[in-house]
Amino acid sequence: NRQHVLAERPKGEPTADTLHLVEGEIPTPGKGQMLLRTEYLSLDPYMRGRMSDAPSYAAPVEIGGVMVGGTVAQVVSSDVKGFEAGDFVLSFNGWQDYALSDGNGVTNLGKSPAHPSWALGIMGMPGFTAWAGLTRIGEPKAGETIAVAAATGPVGATVGQIGKILGCRVVGIAGGAEKCAYAVNELGFDACIDHKAADFADQLAKASPDGIDVYFENVGGKVLDAVIPLLNPNARMPVCGLVSQYNATALPEGPDRMNWLMGQILRKKIKVQGFIIFDDFGHLYPEFAAEMGAWVEAGKIKYREEIIDGLENAPKAFIGLLKGENFGKRVIRVGQN
Ligand code: NDP
Repeated sequence: NRQHVLAERPKGEPTADTLHLVEGEIPTPGKGQMLLRTEYLSLDPYMRGRMSDAPSYAAPVEIGGVMVGGTVAQVVSSDVKGFEAGDFVLSFNGWQDYALSDGNGVTNLGKSPAHPSWALGIMGMPGFTAWAGLTRIGEPKAGETIAVAAATGPVGATVGQIGKILGCRVVGIAGGAEKCAYAVNELGFDACIDHKAADFADQLAKASPDGIDVYFENVGGKVLDAVIPLLNPNARMPVCGLVSQYNATALPEGPDRMNWLMGQILRKKIKVQGFIIFDDFGHLYPEFAAEMGAWVEAGKIKYREEIIDGLENAPKAFIGLLKGENFGKRVIRVGQN
């Protein structure tokens, strides 16, 4: 049983020394337990927070502990009611080949789900995050303009496509021409601006001639700086993530603009609301699953995955995810080797 354990808390970007791959025995399930074999491991930006012991909404991984993570697994053997050998499940095995479970928090996906890994993406946590954050906090109305960064990732791509279904103008922000072309040509965004461009803020303003009514905040940093002046009166800002800051070791240099920001919020009556998906919206999951399932089935929402083979490749793939090396939802196909 290979396991990635947290060897040290990263200062800044995680490195090859952050996680160690160790090999142990396959655990033996006891009474009321099942043995799960990981098939797919989800890589998600929040994992950077779990490597750190800074105060957060969830406890950090202990030094020496197995790195946490959402997984799709197969049941090897089971003494848990409702689960039998061969079932695919959505579970929280973490970065390892095998895990034991008492069934708590585990969802049975059946013997042959059409796209097992989608439970980690469009039909799971990221898709749900996009749907709930946009519809329940962003509350877009037809004709309004939505801006969203990380526009080709599982959250941003879904936010933008829901925005189009709801009749909004959607302006994406992504890293590089290829991702931007995909957002416009494949996902149907009205525009997509490369945040690496020197004149990024000007391009964003030109692409938002009527201002921005909903800014779905995924990244923070210079994207947030460019968006704030474009926000319309009564704009809404679901604060979902700040991925540009996850490896930061200090606040950026420069004048303190906290009061400038508060002034913008006050004068434009902007609603800013953070959320943690399952804490705040868990009760809406069935509604999400039904609506999203229908959209995906009808081809109204597209989903792009980037599957990387081998549990041993997870650390490098995760470090790259935080820098935008991924194009679509990054998933590790664990396999058994
Ligand atoms: P992605 O797969 O989209 O990966 C992160 C992306 O962020 C990168 O691909 C990159 O895209 C972009 N990025 C990285 N650095 C920067 C930067 N400096 N400036 C601008 N963009 C940057 O991630 P997800 O879709 O899984 O998650 C998106 C956000 O949602 C994250 O902030 C995540 O933490 C948050 N989240 C929050 C949840 C909640 O409950 N609040 C639940 C799930 C996710 P590009 O190359 O296009 O710039």
